[in-house]
Amino acid sequence: MRDDWFREDRLPHIYCAGCGNGTIMNCVLEAVERTGWDQKKTIFVSGIGCSSRAPGYILTDSLHTTHGRAIAFATGVKMANPSLHVVVFTGDGDLAAIGGNHFIHACRRNIDITVVCMNNHIYGMTGGQGSPTTPIGKTSTTTPYGADEAPFDLAELAIAAGANYVARWTSFHVKQLTESVLTGLNTPGFSLIEVRCQCPTSYGRRNKYREPVDYMTYLKSHAVLKEKWERTAAPGAELPADSFLVGEFVRRQRPVMGVPDEA
Ligand code: SF4
Repeated sequence: MRDDWFREDRLPHIYCAGCGNGTIMNCVLEAVERTGWDQKKTIFVSGIGCSSRAPGYILTDSLHTTHGRAIAFATGVKMANPSLHVVVFTGDGDLAAIGGNHFIHACRRNIDITVVCMNNHIYGMTGGQGSPTTPIGKTSTTTPYGADEAPFDLAELAIAAGANYVARWTSFHVKQLTESVLTGLNTPGFSLIEVRCQCPTSYGRRNKYREPVDYMTYLKSHAVLKEKWERTAAPGAELPADSFLVGEFVRRQRPVMGVPDEA
């Protein structure tokens, strides 16, 4: 963990042994440090959930808000003081269910904030309920016979709604994730970095990934590099079962909310 940005007085942290959230925090803080941003001009915002405990461990001003509303609060912060750097930590339930409307409209407005979504496919903190990204067939406390609803693809949702930068990595891909967060932080407009990660306590033990390394192994073996797939796959080919694309999905320059369009 980056010492200068970490509140050691908040230890011990609440994360379960083997949780992916600490790895993601470390990648984000390394990227933030590389921007050279002033800690006094940087603010982290979160909603509710395991992901949302992250700002409490960071040595900046932060807002730990209500469930699903992190982006609404972050929008307020950025509009009130555009000189601040605003970063949101969120989870799949917080972002895409309770906060789903805030998410798509922030993408549409293309407000200049960076959102890091720790996507563990379940509500970890609140009891292991199914979320909008629980894959079909996977079990949770609310889908004991297996989820039967099509999950959201968070990256595709952000692209369709208008975000300027969208990427997806996993807690296994620490170097690529760090570089991607840095690019998101430096891209004007709305950035989403979706990070698929292990939750051994609520998701893993219900879905045959009881040990943290089990899910890390899955992430490693089923993540397909988008760039490579587009270069090598036959036209119309489908991804192998349970596989998913990782990489940079979009980097563009749509007009940013609150910033005059020079064109
Ligand atoms: Fe991490 Fe899951 Fe434990 Fe939450 S419940 S701290 S996401 S392992």
